[in-house]
Amino acid sequence: MLTIDEAVRAVLEASRPLPPRPVPLEDAVGSRLGEDVAADIDLPPFDKALVDGYAVRTDDLRGEDRWLRVGETILAGQTPSRALEPREAATIMTGAPIPPGCDAVVMHEKTEPGEGGVRIDEPGVRPGQNILPRGREMRAGTVILTAGTVLGPAHLGVLASVGRPRPKVVRPRVAIVSTGDELVEPDRTPGPGQIRNSNALVLQAMADEDRAESIRLPIAPDEPDALRAILERGLEADVLLITGGVSAGQRDLVPGVLEGLGVRRVFHKVRLKPGKPIWFGVGAPRRVQTDKHDLAPDRPGPLVFGLPGNPVSGVVGYLLFVRPALKVLAHGLPAPNSITGRLSRPFRHRGDRPTYHPARLEVVPGGEPPRVEPLDWAGSADLLTVARADGFAAFPAGDRDYEAGDAVGFLPSAPGFRP
Ligand code: AMP
Ligand code: MG
Repeated sequence: MLTIDEAVRAVLEASRPLPPRPVPLEDAVGSRLGEDVAADIDLPPFDKALVDGYAVRTDDLRGEDRWLRVGETILAGQTPSRALEPREAATIMTGAPIPPGCDAVVMHEKTEPGEGGVRIDEPGVRPGQNILPRGREMRAGTVILTAGTVLGPAHLGVLASVGRPRPKVVRPRVAIVSTGDELVEPDRTPGPGQIRNSNALVLQAMADEDRAESIRLPIAPDEPDALRAILERGLEADVLLITGGVSAGQRDLVPGVLEGLGVRRVFHKVRLKPGKPIWFGVGAPRRVQTDKHDLAPDRPGPLVFGLPGNPVSGVVGYLLFVRPALKVLAHGLPAPNSITGRLSRPFRHRGDRPTYHPARLEVVPGGEPPRVEPLDWAGSADLLTVARADGFAAFPAGDRDYEAGDAVGFLPSAPGFRP
C-alpha cells in the first residue's frame, strides 16, 4: 500500500500538460491562454472623443475671440461628414470619431452655447486634449496577449475587442460517474435501501472551482456491461472521476472493468483515512478532433480516479490527488496543498493511518499560525460536518493525545487558499 506522498508523486508523474483547444470566450475565465493573440485592428480604430463637448481647432483659440460657429453634431457610431473649417466647432459625443482638422475636444461643462455657436471658456486648450488617438491602446498585428497568460475578466474583454470569440486555452475536461445500485438522483425520493447521489455534485463543484469543464454521466449500476458502457464514455474526457465500487465488496466492479477497457492501473489503495481504497490509472492516449478544422496533437491518455463511494472519502481523494493533477494538466504548478496551524483544543487521534478530520480554520492576525478546530465528526459518510468545515486537520498515523496549541497540518477545501 502506497503512502500519500508516494501516491501524489505517482499521480503527478502520470499527469501531462494538455494541448490547447478552442473554447467559447465565456468559458475561458481562469484558464491559461494556449496561443499568442495579435490585434486584428487598431484600437481605438479612429481618433475618438473622450468627453461630451465640442471638437475644435486649437489654432482658432489663440486670440481673444472665444466664439466659434457650431456645424454638425457627431454622435457615437457616426462618422463626421466633413472637416472643420476655420472658426468652426462640431458638437461631439464621447466615443465618436473626431472630424478632420480637429485637434482637441473641449468638455461641454467648460463652454457656453449660444445662438448658432459656442463660447469656449476653458483657457489654454492644448492640442490632443480629450482625444484618444487611433491605435493608442493597441496596433493591428501586434501581439497583445501571450500564451501562458491566465485569463481574468479584463482579458476576456480584450479578446472580445480583437474578435477572438473562441481563443485556444488549456482547459481540462472532467467526466464524473457515480456507481452503485443503491443510488437515485437527488430529485427522487429514495426507496427501501436507496440513497441519493450526492457525490457527483460535490465532485463537479470542486472541478468547477478548478476551472475544469465538467460533465456528469448517468449513474452506473453495479453490473459489468452497463458499467463498462458508461465508463467508456467517461474515458473520452481528460480526467475520469468515478465514485464507488473500488473497495473489496462483491459488487465492487470498477477496477476490473477499467482494466478491461485498457486503463493501466498505477495504484490501488493508499495508506489514508478516509479513502484507503482509492484506485488510479491511465487510459490509452488518443488523437482527437477538437473542432472542424483543428486536429489536436496527441492528447495524453485520460487520468482515471476510482474514488471510494463514501462522500468524505471522495472529497479527501479529490483534494489530495485530483486537484494537483488538474493543475499540471492546465500547465500550472501544483501548489503544496497543506498548511500548518495550531490546534485550538485537545484532540485524541487513534489509528494506524494518516487521518484527515474535518476542521475549521481561524486566521489569526499578526503572523501567528492559524488556529485549527477539529469538528465533532461521524466519519466518512458524514458530509454535513465537511460542509461546516473549512478543510481537514491532518493527523499522522499513530495513537496520540494532542494538546491545544500543538502544531497540526491542514488541508484547505478551497483552491489556492493562503492564510
Ligand atoms: P462503495 O465505495 O461503492 O462501497 O460505497 C461506499 C458507501 O458510499 C456506501 O454506503 C454507499 O452507499 C455510499 N455511496 C456510494 N456512492 C455514493 C454517492 N454517489 N453518493 C452518496 N453516497 C454514496
Ligand atoms: Mg458501491
